Amino acid sequence: MELVEVKGSESFSQILIGESIDNLKNYTSNSKLFIITDGNVKRLYSNRFPIAPLYCIEPGETSKNFQTTIDIYRWLLENNADRSSFIVGIGGGVVCDMAGFVASTFMRGVNFGFVATTLLAQVDASVGGKNGIDLDGYKNIIGTFNQPKFVICDISMLKTLPPIEFANGMAEVVKHALISDKSMFDDIEKNRIEILALNERLIEYLVTRNVRIKASIVEADERENGLRRVLNLGHTWGHAVEKLTGIPHGQAVSIGLVFAANLSLEKGLLSLDERNRLESILSNIGLPITTDANPKHIFEVLQKDKKRDNELVHFVLMKGIGSVEVEKINLKELEKFIQK
Ligand code: ADP
Ligand code: ZN
Repeated sequence: MELVEVKGSESFSQILIGESIDNLKNYTSNSKLFIITDGNVKRLYSNRFPIAPLYCIEPGETSKNFQTTIDIYRWLLENNADRSSFIVGIGGGVVCDMAGFVASTFMRGVNFGFVATTLLAQVDASVGGKNGIDLDGYKNIIGTFNQPKFVICDISMLKTLPPIEFANGMAEVVKHALISDKSMFDDIEKNRIEILALNERLIEYLVTRNVRIKASIVEADERENGLRRVLNLGHTWGHAVEKLTGIPHGQAVSIGLVFAANLSLEKGLLSLDERNRLESILSNIGLPITTDANPKHIFEVLQKDKKRDNELVHFVLMKGIGSVEVEKINLKELEKFIQK
């Protein structure tokens, strides 16, 4: 088992990689437990949950809404939850975002932790203390920054994950490699078959490296003031694709990474060979690298979504593999690039 501590200004989180769900009780300090999960995770694993009131949401992003939040608050009240209660989310990103938001707002905040059961949740949602729900098609538009006490990343639980969901998580893994770890990129290329076969030792190693990368970036910029922007690599274009087409986040990020690579190539920051290596690694993992959606329509969504200063968009570009820079790009320039 590997332990990574993430220090925030007000609290710190322990990420336990390779720990088992069976040891969950060791981390909740005798408090009264309340468990939130989704239907799939419940069906597969509830026989291993500690005995506690259980709230089960429907699987999928559409559960991250106000109605579900209110239903959970009521359930907590009906079950006599108080300020000393401890909320545990057991599931993927959806469950963790939801459980973290409920715990951060119920009675002005109660302690919470996660058992992250998807690769995406283990390498991404587990670190950073962001939680939230969606409103009117805007993802995570309502939420808080608040760190869980612990995140258990039980690698063996990934065995039941549909391959497509595993691939979605790999998009963020490749992103982290592109941001700051060329040797991880090489390792994924070399060990792809074993990774996709879920070799537990390799996955534990991979999750640990990813958690460390994300933790170091988040620690340097807990509230997303600037530095943390590098984590948006592939996401500016990716989010627009996701919004327009409704494809899963990881797939949209994969398409967004290739878009960022092509723009970096155009600007002379990335070589053709490096761009090609990225395309191969993503498609070999089973991720899409192109979309049928009209680039003009994607651009329109991107433009509309832009909450930032005037005509400029902060775009994360690749400087070779393992290094990035954030450039303010004029929307007109981006539009021209798309029309090429
Ligand atoms: P994310 O990809 O953000 O983690 P979700 O929380 O929606 O997204 O999880 C993706 C899907 O995988 C959901 O349908 C969820 O129920 C399912 N799931 C989560 N964990 C497991 C698991 N260990 N085995 C099988 N299915 C799982
Ligand atoms: Zn993402």
